Amino acid sequence: MKNCLVLLLFLMSSFCCLAHVHTSALTDLHSHSFPSSDSLLLHNKTICVDPGHGGTAATDHYRQGINGEREEWINLRVALLLKKKLEARGAKVILTRDTDILVKLEERAAIAVQQKADLLISIHHNATADTAVNFPIIYFHGAVSENLAGVAFGEALGLAFEKYFYRRPIPRSLLSDYVIFPSKGSSVLRNSYGIPGVLAEASFFTNPGEEQRLKQAAYNEAEAQAYLMGIQSYFLQKQTEVRPENISLKIPPFPVLEEAQRTNSIARNWLSDYNEGKKLSLKNDTLSLRSAFELFKRSATSFPDSYVSAYCHEQMAILLRKMKKSDAAATEERRTAEFFVPATPKYNTK
Ligand SMILES: [Zn+2]
Repeated sequence: MKNCLVLLLFLMSSFCCLAHVHTSALTDLHSHSFPSSDSLLLHNKTICVDPGHGGTAATDHYRQGINGEREEWINLRVALLLKKKLEARGAKVILTRDTDILVKLEERAAIAVQQKADLLISIHHNATADTAVNFPIIYFHGAVSENLAGVAFGEALGLAFEKYFYRRPIPRSLLSDYVIFPSKGSSVLRNSYGIPGVLAEASFFTNPGEEQRLKQAAYNEAEAQAYLMGIQSYFLQKQTEVRPENISLKIPPFPVLEEAQRTNSIARNWLSDYNEGKKLSLKNDTLSLRSAFELFKRSATSFPDSYVSAYCHEQMAILLRKMKKSDAAATEERRTAEFFVPATPKYNTK
């Protein structure tokens, strides 16, 4: 019964949110350029494509959908399709693996560095306890004001996922890998830092409908096409840089639940916590504001890379200011600005 209620809340809020996002998402799509397929943009570009995980079917039961599809298999299928598409447009493609084997994380980054890749894309698919959840999450390494190229690529890729993979307005997350690995970020992105790159989780294989779609060749093809269009769109832009990492090391970690801990009943309330926090934050009494703060904090802890997490941190900063905790507020403001890019600015802010 409780699960049904959570699901209902999720569906209701998703529906409301989609109505909000529609206009801004379409505006984004119209103002963003996706080049035609005969573009020469990718000639002489070296692109490292990293299909996440591999070779762990016997030992890892976490990365598997309810109907047996495994993340590492999906990642590889999409990567091989993307390789073909990129090569057809003149790019040189380096795969970190082309079969179902385990390659160490350090080796994956080293391959990109040794081959002097112009771009790195680590292909993943996501898992969570709430089977209704399905949206894309894209991570860049470090801070927004330093990893300009990673953020630019992430933005281009998010829009391409919406247009070519989901084919409808969707909420999405674009955030620093420090949000889920608080002390150092992700190994692949950290060890290849300097090369523009992102780690992308296009969708959730723990959503049974999505798992069925991910088994289909045409759906994998659409995802690979979205990656291609995102990559082309990125290279079409004025090129931005990757500055030395500094800021992210100075922002105190925000403790979050590990993936395996997010299955508990409180963690599953990440979206209703956020919505309840929003309501309470509009009141003016101290008790309501404190409760709102705790709800935003719990949502951001329960599902740190959700599409409402950016707004939770933003609201926490505002509430800390109201509560006259200026040092803590300044930290939260810095975290919000440097670790989160509101991919759909109007989404969930009303
Ligand atoms: Zn993964």
